[in-house]
Amino acid sequence: MKAAGLDVIAFGAGEPDFDTPRKISDAAVESLLSGGTHYMPSSGTPEAREAIANKLRSENNIECTEAHISINSGAKMSINLALMSILDPGKSHEVVVPTPAWVSYKPMVELAGGTMIEVPTTVDTDFKCTPDEIEQAITGNTKAIMLNTPSNPCGTMYSPDELRAIASMLENHPGVAIICDEIYERLIYSDIEHLSMGSLPEIADRVITINGLSKAYAMTGWRIGYACAPGNNGAIAKAMNTLQSQITTSITSFCYATIPVALGMHDEVESMRQIFAKRAALMYKLIQEWPDVQCAEPTGAFYAFPHVANYFGKTSPAGTTVTDAVNFTKALLDETMVAVVPGTDFGGCGPDHIRLSFACSEDQITKGVTLIGDWLSKFK
Ligand code: PMP
Repeated sequence: MKAAGLDVIAFGAGEPDFDTPRKISDAAVESLLSGGTHYMPSSGTPEAREAIANKLRSENNIECTEAHISINSGAKMSINLALMSILDPGKSHEVVVPTPAWVSYKPMVELAGGTMIEVPTTVDTDFKCTPDEIEQAITGNTKAIMLNTPSNPCGTMYSPDELRAIASMLENHPGVAIICDEIYERLIYSDIEHLSMGSLPEIADRVITINGLSKAYAMTGWRIGYACAPGNNGAIAKAMNTLQSQITTSITSFCYATIPVALGMHDEVESMRQIFAKRAALMYKLIQEWPDVQCAEPTGAFYAFPHVANYFGKTSPAGTTVTDAVNFTKALLDETMVAVVPGTDFGGCGPDHIRLSFACSEDQITKGVTLIGDWLSKFK
């Protein structure tokens, strides 16, 4: 529709709408022009590994060294390699994941030969599950649980106490690894603090912390992610590096130089966070004006995930009978030219929700979210 010149307001973006800070791009250009264009070790440059280990020690209280780090083509590749290192195909291995969850988790688990076991959550608990609910999903085949806080698509996050309670339950399950996807760690808008599960000594040797530069530094296209796995002398990080050496060798040579620069930048990240915080508050305020819709307050990442199932079975202003999130979003797009993502593929209660990203301007948020509210108020 955009290509046809139509003025679509899109809330689908899964990435910051900012440019990569100049200092970071300069570091890559300098490396590129000074000959950093050759094969690199699969484990990455010592400077990049040390910068990541340093960040995780000082900001996340994770005890680790550069020997426990794997640097990969995006956090997506880090998760894939971690799963491939943990799961054996043909052995009924399971990975427990609270849902709704990022759409890639299920295919990633399946590509590594495992099965994803969902722990469904609801908007009433801000999409968070209890240690008991997770424990009920753990079986003799469970090799890992995967947690994403702050969450895509839910926009909510676990408090330190909630994470400590989950860690304490996991003490009873010593064979289960804990994959913590902390890619949205820097994008937090409430006074809830981010706690890294990898900093909790009782489970630290089983935690694989996933993070990357994509979201916090507006670097999605660079493809730079990393994992930290200190347990057993970094055995999983080493396995990931070995796998990577056969799959892609390494990330692109001159991207390594950006890692110490990005991880040393705080002011730029904080200004982007403040802009996202204002947008989160604006979007939440406007969504609360929608009739008959429940929405958890977005406290992290850049998504609101309102519950719209009260409209299923009703008729839109232009006469479409809405039956699910997919035809809800289609009718919305056709009738108002506002694009949102149906929650269907996120699992759990996702099919009752839509996802709106606030990685866009305040003007767009005001206009688009108000249009949706007007549209909803005319349903019969
Ligand atoms: N984890 C989550 C929860 C995400 O939403 C995303 C990006 N959509 C990623 C990981 C992957 O990030 P990257 O671009 O670094 O591969």
